[in-house]
Amino acid sequence: MTYKAIVIDKNPDYIATLTDLNEDQLPEGDVKIDVIASTMNYKDALAITNKNPVVRTFPLTPGIDLVGKVTESQSNRFKIGDTVILNGFGVGEVHSGGLAEKASLKSEWLIHLPKAISPIDAMTIGTAGYTAMLSIIALEKHGLTPESGKILVTGATGGVGSFAVSLLTKLGYDVIAATGKASEHEYLYQLGAKEIIDRHELSDKGKPLQKMRWAGAIDSVGSNTLVNVLAATEYGGCVAACGLAQGFDLNGTVMPFILRNVTLRGVDSVMRPLPDRIEAWSRLAELIDPATLANIRTEITLDEVIENADKIINGEIKGRLVVKI
Ligand code: NDP
Repeated sequence: MTYKAIVIDKNPDYIATLTDLNEDQLPEGDVKIDVIASTMNYKDALAITNKNPVVRTFPLTPGIDLVGKVTESQSNRFKIGDTVILNGFGVGEVHSGGLAEKASLKSEWLIHLPKAISPIDAMTIGTAGYTAMLSIIALEKHGLTPESGKILVTGATGGVGSFAVSLLTKLGYDVIAATGKASEHEYLYQLGAKEIIDRHELSDKGKPLQKMRWAGAIDSVGSNTLVNVLAATEYGGCVAACGLAQGFDLNGTVMPFILRNVTLRGVDSVMRPLPDRIEAWSRLAELIDPATLANIRTEITLDEVIENADKIINGEIKGRLVVKI
């Protein structure tokens, strides 16, 4: 039996193609899955375009997120017919992932999809929404509440940003959205943003301490932006840093930490232990509004994946690209 998959190979040049594979080419795993849907994250775009060395074994199917039905299981946590979700754990980097009709995965990477979330909605959320939720949980664990003050979201029209704006709003926070897309202000207001600022206000090197503007922030941009975000965070505030869309450098000062008691919390979604994943997905099941998801998503098919990778890298995509398998 064959199945369709995006395959990245080096032969000798780096190339991504849509290919027919035999089922015996599936990698090792104690759970076999018919993929229902996947999604295209920034990291998948980096993998497909080879802009960053995301893929570390060849040939490999990218796709760090998937939802599918179990077709074979040697694990007592899962039975045939279960709907499962996978985010990260090196899948799509060192183990073949979701941009294919079939997958073979380790059961310890999987959780059951909460019943309240449909597979397409789950992939609209994907690692982006799950990371936004983890970032919000990080701010909550710091003690921030809607009464603490405004929360800034950078990269606001991106996948993580869109979810952060929408989920924070649902939780009652006043959200300031930082974006470079003047044409998308209406979209951000629809998601719930109360204020919008131009991301260029934050993208150049700034003063070590700036006028205090927000109690907390979710930053998917890094670099100068994150330094400026920290410099303008209110006394005792918290910034959850989860991304590097501007860059992975962090050339700042310790002033916000030592003079304003600001906390910088790192947020990783990839190697997150199962209890954190289950907490994040059950919070998402409570908070997510299917109508908002429909507004955030664009559906594509496997044969449109490769052409969309450059658009993601160039920051031309708004919201989420869901791949219906
Ligand atoms: P997207 O490409 O969907 O969004 C990124 C957004 O960042 C863009 O839409 C744009 O928003 C903004 N942006 C792009 N380039 C720049 C720039 N040069 N300077 C400032 N802002 C810029 O990506 P995702 O939302 O999926 O991911 C965002 C980041 O988070 C990525 O770096 C990704 O690798 C990381 N990530 C990390 C995870 C983790 O586990 N820690 C998990 C998931 C993602 P706008 O036009 O509105 O300004």
